[in-house]
Amino acid sequence: MTKFEIKCVDTAATEAFGERLGRGLHGGELIELIGDLGAGKTTFTRGVARGLDSKDQVSSPTFTIHKVYGGRLTLHHFDFYRLDDSAAIKHELGEILANPQAVTVLEWAQNVAGCLEENHITLELQPTSETGRKIIVSMPLALGYLEETLC
Ligand code: ADP
Ligand code: MG
Repeated sequence: MTKFEIKCVDTAATEAFGERLGRGLHGGELIELIGDLGAGKTTFTRGVARGLDSKDQVSSPTFTIHKVYGGRLTLHHFDFYRLDDSAAIKHELGEILANPQAVTVLEWAQNVAGCLEENHITLELQPTSETGRKIIVSMPLALGYLEETLC
């Protein structure tokens, strides 16, 4: 596991970092986003969509749990903040994670703990000021190809 952190001075920087990650994705990756409401998880995901050449508008999936965006790879964006039926969604999530043409971003993944593969990227977003964010990236060795795009 490689761990590093980067500083994003504003919303655009967080989105740009997501875009860089998006460009490096091969398909089949799982990205877990950790951080409080307003930390920038959805903002980061908007960048990932752009990096996948998606033309779709990314908005917070809080009330729908699952959103799907087109692009070079299909982006599945889950927000489990208000999850109550975890059995059904775990099954759906399992199928998506097995698809090599799909990329999955999870917000509030602790609500589906136990069904995530170990080899996934974790990003922890922490506000450092009103517009500053620190992003701590934990990257498994198996996804080393992403380090070149991010470091
Ligand atoms: P979350 O999905 O974590 O709840 P959002 O991405 O929906 O957070 O919202 C983050 C809010 O914080 C947005 O209004 C965004 O403009 C603002 N913001 C300010 N600075 C940053 C930054 N550096 N990175 C991301 N968002 C920021
Ligand atoms: Mg969000």
